[in-house]
Amino acid sequence: MNIYVIGSGFFGAVIAERIAADAGIPVTVIEKRHHVGGNSWSEICPDTGIECHKYGSHIFHTSDEQVWNYMCRFTGFNNYRHKVLTTYNENVYTMPINLTTINSFYGLSLTSSEVSTFIAGEAAKEKIDKPENLEEKAVSLIGRPLYEAFIKGYTIKQWDKDPRELSSGIISRLPVRNDDNDRYFSDKYEGIPLDGYGKLFAEILNHDLISVKLNTDFFAVRDSIPPDSLILYTGAIDQFFDYCHGKLEWRTSTFETDIHDFPDYQGTTVMNYASHEIPYTRIHEFKHYHPERPSTDKTITYTEYSKKSKDKDEPYYPVATERNLMILEKYKKDAAKLNNVIFGGRLGSYKYLDMDDAISEALKCYESRVVPLLK
Ligand SMILES: Cc1cc2nc3c(=O)[nH]c(=O)nc-3n(C[C@H](O)[C@H](O)[C@H](O)COP(=O)(O)OP(=O)(O)OC[C@H]3O[C@@H](n4cnc5c(N)ncnc54)[C@H](O)[C@@H]3O)c2cc1C
Repeated sequence: MNIYVIGSGFFGAVIAERIAADAGIPVTVIEKRHHVGGNSWSEICPDTGIECHKYGSHIFHTSDEQVWNYMCRFTGFNNYRHKVLTTYNENVYTMPINLTTINSFYGLSLTSSEVSTFIAGEAAKEKIDKPENLEEKAVSLIGRPLYEAFIKGYTIKQWDKDPRELSSGIISRLPVRNDDNDRYFSDKYEGIPLDGYGKLFAEILNHDLISVKLNTDFFAVRDSIPPDSLILYTGAIDQFFDYCHGKLEWRTSTFETDIHDFPDYQGTTVMNYASHEIPYTRIHEFKHYHPERPSTDKTITYTEYSKKSKDKDEPYYPVATERNLMILEKYKKDAAKLNNVIFGGRLGSYKYLDMDDAISEALKCYESRVVPLLK
């Protein structure tokens, strides 16, 4: 049986590796970009020598032992621990909201035991018993001042929608820490691949039975693939069916690159900009992801803007509106009728997946769906 994997992000790369290394069957990976690795890819910038995450910051974090052990076969990780700062009205605050954020924002010196009562008091001020939209929900959880500063402007920029038009169901809680913990993630394992994501993908796909065809769009070669082949498809599900039920909407990000002739721009990897008036959402400074590497004279930053994805844009975040979810159900029904095509990954399932989710889903998909077909 001929096996084709469409797309070489984490889902495609891991499933191709399993087919080659575990089942011992040749597999062809078809990738439309000039590189493997999908959105998680990184490469060294030739002007600065700094490893850049080309599609925005990617921090590996997981509590899944199987995923961690699998990844450690291909790479070591550094000890990077992600922290995010937010600029609002020219002041810098810690994210997610913690005791330090609250004390600096309100000019208070609350202790851990006082802060929960303080926030509960702020949240109760508008007496919102049944929140009907995202704004009301957020205000009922953390109070209006924190909502206006840290949630409102960022949400408008990220989703291009007024939070009053968004469903209250989008958030079930807003984490407010009553201590000084400023780590963004709380998973057991966290870090950045020591040699970067580009090298990691090369390592995963480095097998005699795997052949990778770059710069090849599946839809350009689809007719030349033998009809009895097994296809593991990680491209967009609506495109596979020629958008017959309509186009699924995505948000995308664009990046403005700046090289600076000094060693440090912002002292941290990611600085969010919360105000609606500032058009970008965040600035990434990649050198801080590798504190273990020798320092450089220059630094490079990517300024990120969020917008609706159009035809030529890379789709980034699925937009979970009722319309999109209804259309997705139709595509899923069509997909279930095909017995030689398996859909997976974030584009194939129209679902935001962290890297560890994509790896875990690929490992499970291999065991539960691919292995039985190979017998
Ligand atoms: C801005 C941003 C930041 C993120 N940060 C993190 C983070 O910090 N930590 C984390 O765990 N996760 C993060 N993620 C999520 C991470 O990017 C995904 O988990 C990962 O990309 C999923 O892998 P995938 O294989 O499903 O999809 P992708 O990586 O998107 O790979 C799909 C591949 O399929 C290819 N393809 C599509 N259509 C075709 C076609 N027609 N023919 C041939 N090839 C095709 C694409 O070119 C692409 O290479 C982030 C995502 C975004 C958008």
